[in-house]
Amino acid sequence: MRAMNLVIQPIEEAFRPEYTPPHGAAPTDLPREARAYFEAAARSLAALPELQGMRTVSPDIPEGPLRQIRVLLASPEMFDCVFPDSAGALGLHVINVPEDDPFGDGGELATELRVMICWPPSPDLVPCPGNMGEFDRNCDAFAWLVTLTHEVAHAVMFAENGNFNVPATLAEMEIEIGRDLFDISTGYGIRALVVDGVEVEPENMEHAADLMEEAVEETGRRWAEVIVTGDLSTLAFLNMLDGQRGDFPLPAPTP
Ligand SMILES: [Zn+2]
Repeated sequence: MRAMNLVIQPIEEAFRPEYTPPHGAAPTDLPREARAYFEAAARSLAALPELQGMRTVSPDIPEGPLRQIRVLLASPEMFDCVFPDSAGALGLHVINVPEDDPFGDGGELATELRVMICWPPSPDLVPCPGNMGEFDRNCDAFAWLVTLTHEVAHAVMFAENGNFNVPATLAEMEIEIGRDLFDISTGYGIRALVVDGVEVEPENMEHAADLMEEAVEETGRRWAEVIVTGDLSTLAFLNMLDGQRGDFPLPAPTP
């Protein structure tokens, strides 16, 4: 059993020092209050039993040194510039790294467990009195926060399947261990996944990829239901956003 730690920070802090983002994309603006919220969320996530007591499901793969998941928050523009192949996505589990090597991995594959989330959330979440009911805002805030837990769930599944090795190391061992990065990401040929409380064995690769998304979405929702409470409730999140409203582009006022 292993415990996994979480680090959360703006993407710029993870760039290698000589890296210049393409096209001078707008830097990620993470106000102090937002950072405090996410750091508390990261601590709560790391404290979940599933991250405190991570399982070994691939004892045939030599055990690696992984102890940490790095969560990067990126402005949508920065996200699209750094990962043009995933432009428009809300989150990403980073396995392949871009050619210009933004994080200093020194190759095509990540040398750590890394996920990215777009920040700030969609303009729909930005307060606009009279535009949206509180209930809808709470649902939207929760849905957005599930992006965070969903991506972390991808990273946790990868760490378990790959016996705590990073993508770059697993690719080097591919022949020796008889598993490629698709198998490690999805668990294909490694384990059945639990969806709706039922263990399902994938029939083929396409099914394995779908099952992974379903299982990760379910896990992400379950984790969000546990951590998005009290000081981290959707209300607290929205109040934090409201306090920052001057920092976000407001939607056009409804006439
Ligand atoms: Zn996913």
